[in-house]
Amino acid sequence: MNVIRLANDRPSVKDDFPVFAANEGLVYLDSGATAQKPISVLDRMDHFYRYANATVHRGVYRLSADATDAFEAARKTVADFINAEAREIIFVRGATEGLNLLADCLGRSDLLKAGDAVIVSELEHHANIVPWQLLRDGRGIELRVCPISEEGGLDMAALEALLADGKVKLVSVTHIANATGTVVPVKEVSRLARAKGAMVAIDGCQAVSHRPVDVRDLDVDFYVFSAHKLYGPTGTGVLFGRYELLEKLPPYQGGGAMITTVTFEKTEFAPPPQRFEAGTPDIVGVLGLAAAIDYVNGLGWDWIAAHEAAVMAHGEAVLRAIPGVTILPAGPERASIFSILVEGIHPHDLGTILDNHDVAVRAGSHCAQPLLAKYNCYATVRASVGVYNEAADFDRLAAGIKSAQKLFG
Ligand code: PLP
Repeated sequence: MNVIRLANDRPSVKDDFPVFAANEGLVYLDSGATAQKPISVLDRMDHFYRYANATVHRGVYRLSADATDAFEAARKTVADFINAEAREIIFVRGATEGLNLLADCLGRSDLLKAGDAVIVSELEHHANIVPWQLLRDGRGIELRVCPISEEGGLDMAALEALLADGKVKLVSVTHIANATGTVVPVKEVSRLARAKGAMVAIDGCQAVSHRPVDVRDLDVDFYVFSAHKLYGPTGTGVLFGRYELLEKLPPYQGGGAMITTVTFEKTEFAPPPQRFEAGTPDIVGVLGLAAAIDYVNGLGWDWIAAHEAAVMAHGEAVLRAIPGVTILPAGPERASIFSILVEGIHPHDLGTILDNHDVAVRAGSHCAQPLLAKYNCYATVRASVGVYNEAADFDRLAAGIKSAQKLFG
């Protein structure tokens, strides 16, 4: 096999992820679904449960105070990662819960009233469609859908037209589309939305592990992501909200930790972010997320960007060289993902054959059925990269596709 090492490869990256030692020969091209975990994340989580376990925000004893300090330090790590303030970081179970929290709380606030409109786009994961549909059906919000262009990017002229009547109060779109890798020009979305007085929410699930995110520079009001796609644990995620907007939102769930005083007559709610964090949080998940951010920061965005760009360029070249392979378009800029169709082979069959070659890809609709319907397909095979992928992984993918073609040919 033709093993290609890129000029700036940092050979130890794969060694940081124990899954590769445990599964020799595995080509993991499904980081868009969930990323593998480096040993530093596993160690941080194990250390807490093994040696430092106590709940946060409640105990008067040292172990609990230390846990609280570690938990709040993690909140600061997350805030610094996206250039927010710690009090603007709400810990949730994942992007899905972050978007549901946002839709539910906005829908019960004065920021979004019956008759107001929300824009989503054709690029969205179901997590950024269904919560807004629930709001439409339950609270009389109008839902508008921004189409994609012929080339697969967000149709910015259409977005401007959808904003024109001034009824739109929120534009909620993805940063990078999980089914195609399309990069949305978020700054431009914000500029258009702001010009019409609309708020901006971004689903950053596929972006935070591939590029630096600065919520101030992007000029967004809300930004959500899941820890598990950023080399952290499942069950933890983040909703960033601009503080002056969070202050205007009612609580999401009621319970402990989100109040200042409770009587049977009336409850005073805590200020953000605690107002949105009812109950005992996923302490160890949050610590794992902070460790994942430390890991990414340690690699550095320069290295990550150069490495992934080189891997993706090789991937695109080898995929385009195979007759019968179509890559779904991604518009002017693609990041980290190829969604492919192979003539005459059902994506699920292809996924199974690739698994026989030890190549792990996702086959299905990628929770983006409206986008796939646009391309007249119900499923694709999706290859998505992380920091541990190498150019040679795409050679293995290509070899697997060719052998599937022989089988079906
Ligand atoms: N949004 C995008 C773009 C995604 O890729 C995903 C996960 O696939 C989600 C939202 C939902 O993330 P989670 O299932 O971690 O809540």
